[in-house]
Formats: sequence, structure tokens, C-alpha cells
Amino acid sequence: LYILGIDTSCDDTGVGIVELSASGSVQVRANRIWTQAVHAQYGGVMPELASREHVERIDGVMADALAEAGLKVSDIGAVAATSGPGLVGALLVGLMYGKGLAQALDVPFFAAHHLEGHIFAAASEDNLQAPYLALVVSGGHTHLFDVPEEGKYILVGATRDDAAGEAFDKIARLAGLGYPGGPAIAEAALRGNPDAVPFKEPLQGQKAFEFSFSGLKTAALLAHKAGAKPEDLAASFQRAAVHVLVKTTRRAAEAYGRQTVVVSGGVAANTALREAFNQTDLHVVFPGKGLNTDNGAMIALAGAAALRAGRAPSPLAAGATAYAPLANG
Ligand code: ATP
Ligand code: FE
Repeated sequence: LYILGIDTSCDDTGVGIVELSASGSVQVRANRIWTQAVHAQYGGVMPELASREHVERIDGVMADALAEAGLKVSDIGAVAATSGPGLVGALLVGLMYGKGLAQALDVPFFAAHHLEGHIFAAASEDNLQAPYLALVVSGGHTHLFDVPEEGKYILVGATRDDAAGEAFDKIARLAGLGYPGGPAIAEAALRGNPDAVPFKEPLQGQKAFEFSFSGLKTAALLAHKAGAKPEDLAASFQRAAVHVLVKTTRRAAEAYGRQTVVVSGGVAANTALREAFNQTDLHVVFPGKGLNTDNGAMIALAGAAALRAGRAPSPLAAGATAYAPLANG
């Protein structure tokens, strides 16, 4: 069974196709993304422009995904689309497109949660079976969830202020390293000295599994004003951020008695973060290549999980929501 997934939650138009076999295993068949360049000149995402560009691009991205998978549209057996959280106007484009497609094909439709999509991106690499702990580190989230059983999400901790990806982006901008900041910081860090700028570990010694990145951001600003080299700033900040993410996740895994940890979202593409997690005694699962930042395949994987778990399809009346917490337990 082929499941088509759509994500238009922000400024990427993503369409992916996943094959769900009778045995329940999944395989990504296509993953096409149109990244909107129009926002660069404004230094941030312009919601109205994002919606318009999704409308213009979604047909083409779907055609590309079908071509990549070697399928016809009539081969699609289920459709999933992100319904939230995200920019409402942008979400509506993919959601309505997905509903229309499902209705035209007379196949089940699943409204997917964007963060569940990020988590299920890791199902491209591992036959994800609850229980596990999930760390979502993206542009808008730094959230730790315990997943004791399929479909149940307990919030273990989150950031008090900035998301990890947001901190990468802001520090990259301040150091003049470009956008998106994550890859720019990672690249500059290779040429920098991680000992050059002393970052104090945020929220050290606290019991709660909370994160905070605004302190690192302020420290980076002060170091920048004091003349720190961009490469040194990048290397030092990255090490501090990686350290606190790994350490807090390890403590949570121990407290919740979980051996398997999913690390997903855009920041999970970071090589230093992956290496640090791989050095722990945990079984850490990351999304496959191209599945860390927003994409359609992760939404198709979330749809596959819903089908596999026997969840009822979503009503076609399902709407888009800007704010939608994943935690349900
Ligand atoms: P959310 O899912 O929370 O709504 P989002 O969809 O905007 O946010 P993603 O697309 O998952 O976020 O991730 C984008 C973020 O990932 C950006 O902040 C970007 O800088 C960061 N990122 C991407 N690649 C890397 C990398 N190699 N190292 C660190 N951060 C990275
Ligand atoms: Fe995202």
C-alpha cells in the first residue's frame, strides 16, 4: 500500500511516498521538497507569501514525487497531510490538497500532527516500536516526550525559551554565517576552537528535564561584541548545545527507564549531535537522509503508523491549527 504524505506547515512544500508492506514494514519511495527562496530577502518567513507559493508549487512537487516513486496517482492507497502546528494559511494548502486527493481517489485520509511526523521520520531507519523516548529538536521545538505505547505522548520536558534550532539560526545570523543557521554553524565549527568561548551550561543541576537556550544566545552576543571569531563562536556554541541536549536526554531516559531514544527534527541533522548521542549507551534512532528538516515522507510515515495501529481515518472536516500540543497523557 502506498501512502502519500504532504507537509506545508511552514516554508517548505514537501510531498513524500511511503510503501507499507503486508508485514507492517515501511519504506520511503519518494521525498520531494520545494524550499521557498522568496523569504531570504526579508530575513524570516512571510506567512502570506508562503501560502501563495505552496499553492503554486504543490502540483509540481506531487508530480515529482510520483515520478521518483515510479507510480501513478491512482496507485496511492492513503493520504496524510499535516494539520498543525504551523502557519495556518500554509497548512491549509497542503491539508485541503490532501483531502481533495483522498476524496477523488476514494482512499482514507489522515490529518497528521507535525511533531508526530518528525518523530516518525525515524521509522525510515528502524521499525519504531513503543516504548521509547523522543527528543524533537527543530526550528520551533525542543521537546522531550515519553512514548509508553503507540500514539501516547507524555511531555517530559521542553525549552523554557528558544528552541535549539532557533538558537543555531540566531547565533549564525549574529556571527554573519548565513541562513539557515544550523548547517552554517556546523560547517564553521569544523574550523573553530570549541574552547575559545566559555559557555556556561544552562540549567545545570536542575531536576526537571527542561532546556533553555536564551542564555547561550546572550553569551554568544557578548562574545561576538568582544571580538570572538565566528568559527570559534560556532564551535563553542555547538559543543555547549550538543552537551546539554545529550545530557538531559540521557537523564530522562534513565528516569523513564527507556533504552531507545528517537532524536529528530532539523537539528538532528547535526553531525556533532549524532556523534555525541552515538557515544552514549542508548539505542539512538535518527531519521534517514533528507528526513530531518520538514518533508512529506515523514508525514507519510506518520500516516503509515496510523494505518498500522488501526486508527480511524480523519473526518474531511478536520481543520488546520496553529497551536496543537502533541502531549495527550
Ligand atoms: P518545527 O518543526 O518546530 O515547527 P521547523 O519545521 O521550522 O520547526 P525543522 O525544519 O525541523 O524546523 O528544522 C529547521 C531547523 O533545523 C533550523 O533551525 C535549522 O537551523 C536547524 N538545522 C538544520 N540542519 C542543522 C544542522 N546540521 N545542525 C544544526 N541545526 C540544523
Ligand atoms: Fe518541522
